[in-house]
Amino acid sequence: MSDTQAPFLTIIPADGDAVASGAASAQAGAVPLTNIFDFDRARLERFFEEELGEKKFRAHQVMKWIHHRYVTDFAEMTDLGKALRSKLEARAVVHAPQVIFEKKSNDDTQKWLLGMDAKNAIETVYIPDKGRGTLCVSSQVGCALNCSFCSTGAQGFNRNLSTAEIIGQVWVAARALGNVPHQQRRLTNVVMMGMGEPLANFDNVVRAMSIMRDDLGYGLANKRVTLSTAGMVPQIDRLAQESDVSLAVSLHAPFDELRTQLMPINKKYPLAELMDACVRYALRKKGESVTFEYTLMKGVNDQPEHARALVALMKDFDRRVQMKDAAKINLIPFNPFPGTQFRRPDDVTIRSFQKLLNNAGMIAPVRRTRGDDIDAACGQLKGQVADRTRRSATIRKRQESQGGVRAG
Ligand code: SAH
Repeated sequence: MSDTQAPFLTIIPADGDAVASGAASAQAGAVPLTNIFDFDRARLERFFEEELGEKKFRAHQVMKWIHHRYVTDFAEMTDLGKALRSKLEARAVVHAPQVIFEKKSNDDTQKWLLGMDAKNAIETVYIPDKGRGTLCVSSQVGCALNCSFCSTGAQGFNRNLSTAEIIGQVWVAARALGNVPHQQRRLTNVVMMGMGEPLANFDNVVRAMSIMRDDLGYGLANKRVTLSTAGMVPQIDRLAQESDVSLAVSLHAPFDELRTQLMPINKKYPLAELMDACVRYALRKKGESVTFEYTLMKGVNDQPEHARALVALMKDFDRRVQMKDAAKINLIPFNPFPGTQFRRPDDVTIRSFQKLLNNAGMIAPVRRTRGDDIDAACGQLKGQVADRTRRSATIRKRQESQGGVRAG
């Protein structure tokens, strides 16, 4: 796993296209502007104090304009004073991702395709439900982990998203939904379950999650922000140190051999090590649970022997954390995408798998498929990835020979 670090700042040259900082400074004549979206509260305060020579509370005012009122033009930030507004205009910009299209499903799920740069786009999905609204946010353009059942993996990997590009997804959706933090809450939960492996883009994801939880940002409670990982063990430990969010782990198989076939990362961090890290994460705080996602694939991991081994793994976790139901299972019926060889099990198989878990005293909801008419379900997000690896070309060829590619 390459630990690709995203540039600290997204620098916007005067012509308005976001590019990585190194590239921007190399461009002749470009005036680099700092994108305020890259800053969480601590960094914005520092920018105001150290770079602009202004008081901290000015930074707070700017955050509220951006994340509560969706204003991106400094000229409209009327409580700032003219001198400060022009200082900001000369040094900074509030640059949100560009909406390429927005689609609404029959079940009210909504999906945005957002342009990140000239070649790459990612997807963000809003899932409304009784009393809650969950936004599924992407962390990378593509994904390098190559899980065999995931559409994002099939696209290959291009790059990490910046903090601005991650929080920008929340901003675009919240604005479109008419969300007013603390008052008109349309957005109550965020799950880092879109495209990419969030722990492979650690710093930018943690900074963006801090804005999600900040009162000057989106004001979400810690447990309403969930990070989902394929199982990057050292980064799970780092997350326990540096952030305070809910953890979800994509398990998908209770045996190492099968899990390695489905998720190559299991070779590096096998089940025993992964479960140890989950126990450490749960034990850092009283009453903390961990969610385990289990995507059911026909004839692959949906048999009684898998259910029984899963029960054993989860019971062992509860015992070590010393809490009943510390392990929460989410069963996700596989969502097909063009070119995949995997299939969704039939309903009878799904129900008997679930029943086996229930009979062992475990709650294991089957996630309803939402938004699949707009390709917005788990594992169907593909965006537009200008892949820097060769893998996606091979997969595309296979898809074409199998009867074409649906529009995203
Ligand atoms: N990389 C992170 C974030 C992705 S979250 C992770 O692995 O957890 C998306 C969830 O959907 C993961 O649990 C992923 O394994 C699952 N998933 C991927 N492809 C899927 C598919 N085609 N059908 C159902 N679930 C899928």
